[in-house]
Amino acid sequence: MTTKEQALPSIPLMSTPEIAAIRESVRAIAGRHGWSYYQETGRKYEAPTKVLSALASGGFLGVHLPAEYGGGGLGLSELAVVAEEAAAAGCPLNTMIVQAIAGSVLARHGTAEQRAQWLPGLASGEVTFAFAITEPDAGSNAHNITTVARREGDRYVMRGQKTFCSGADRADAILLVARTGTHDRSGNGLLSLFIVDPKAPGLTMQHIPTAPMLSTKSFQLFLDDVEVATDQLVGTRDEGWRPLFDGLNPERIMASATSNGIARFALDAAARYARERSVWSTPIGAHQGIAHPLAEAKVELELARLMTAKAAACFDAGVDAGEAANMAKMASADAAVRCVDQSIQTHGGTGFALATGLTDAYWVARVAQTVPVSREMVLNFVAQHSLGLPRSY
Ligand SMILES: Cc1cc2nc3c(=O)[nH]c(=O)nc-3n(C[C@H](O)[C@H](O)[C@H](O)COP(=O)(O)OP(=O)(O)OC[C@H]3O[C@@H](n4cnc5c(N)ncnc54)[C@H](O)[C@@H]3O)c2cc1C
Repeated sequence: MTTKEQALPSIPLMSTPEIAAIRESVRAIAGRHGWSYYQETGRKYEAPTKVLSALASGGFLGVHLPAEYGGGGLGLSELAVVAEEAAAAGCPLNTMIVQAIAGSVLARHGTAEQRAQWLPGLASGEVTFAFAITEPDAGSNAHNITTVARREGDRYVMRGQKTFCSGADRADAILLVARTGTHDRSGNGLLSLFIVDPKAPGLTMQHIPTAPMLSTKSFQLFLDDVEVATDQLVGTRDEGWRPLFDGLNPERIMASATSNGIARFALDAAARYARERSVWSTPIGAHQGIAHPLAEAKVELELARLMTAKAAACFDAGVDAGEAANMAKMASADAAVRCVDQSIQTHGGTGFALATGLTDAYWVARVAQTVPVSREMVLNFVAQHSLGLPRSY
């Protein structure tokens, strides 16, 4: 056994009473509104605020944040359970993914003032963050970003563009990654993280229309000499990768948990329909052509859930969660797409009736194969870090 393996935390294979109680409460809250409410808000690119508010009142959105800031004092494992259970009850909460980045980064790397300013609002659900790393010309290669933050006296001045910044229109703050220098040998950007006011002079945004049902609008951001006070830097200047990884792993884990919930939602619907629908002498679920693909999807889903739990446990224990978080992210997104697709197939023509919600669920599931990190970039990570293979790029 290697030192790295010895450091791994143990994960309970069965729900603890605490986790079981969280599941039950979240399911009851989200189930009260369910998928038809999500469809209604998703068509307008709005977040399902009734569900988010009810979860916030119950303390579920800040369950992972420190108790001294109004959080529940538990971990990302519990927050991931909230996300999965809400999605399984028909309310995928994509906004929780970005909130988890901001909460995790600020709790671990924020100054005392930043923590006091933002964590109570994140815990109570009253504060919303957006996250801006992707750029039009850098894409998956964050080393190549060109949005620059230049130090001028007691402030930084930012110029550049960000793309696909979700929820920027209603965010109280944007956690933004900018280049504050360039590495001498590699030419890669030295990155830093900043808290930026979405209403700051010089910052404009343009809506990018996307597939429906993703519950937030995405925006291109234009930064034209945007001034940011030096105390809005998070972590150490030029060393933004450290806090970033403490945000990107929660992002992947929360995306995985949401995908797992969507997969459960679609698979439950498929199994229910396959038990009830008869067109010959037996329910369609008795035909192996219907039963086996659903059983295979169930196997894929349960493996993805296990890897998600491992990734969250690693993060909570302070152990490197990168490998597990990437693997979970890919496995869960694939499982969700497979479950939704197979659920549509199981429903026959009814799978395309808007009332079943499955065609709408498809986009929610499918986007996770590209966002926040694409399937290909996960495979690159595993090839290089887990298998020691050389990189081609
Ligand atoms: C709905 C939505 C919401 C989003 N929200 C946010 C947000 O809030 N904040 C934010 O910062 N970003 C956000 N994004 C951006 C998202 O994270 C990126 O789209 C994603 O990371 C892929 O980057 P890209 O689109 O630039 O693709 P590119 O980097 O241009 O890649 C295009 C294709 O090439 C593949 N590819 C690229 N490089 C390699 C390689 N070396 N090896 C193999 N394949 C490769 C990619 O996997 C992909 O399939 C959002 C995107 C969408 C669609």
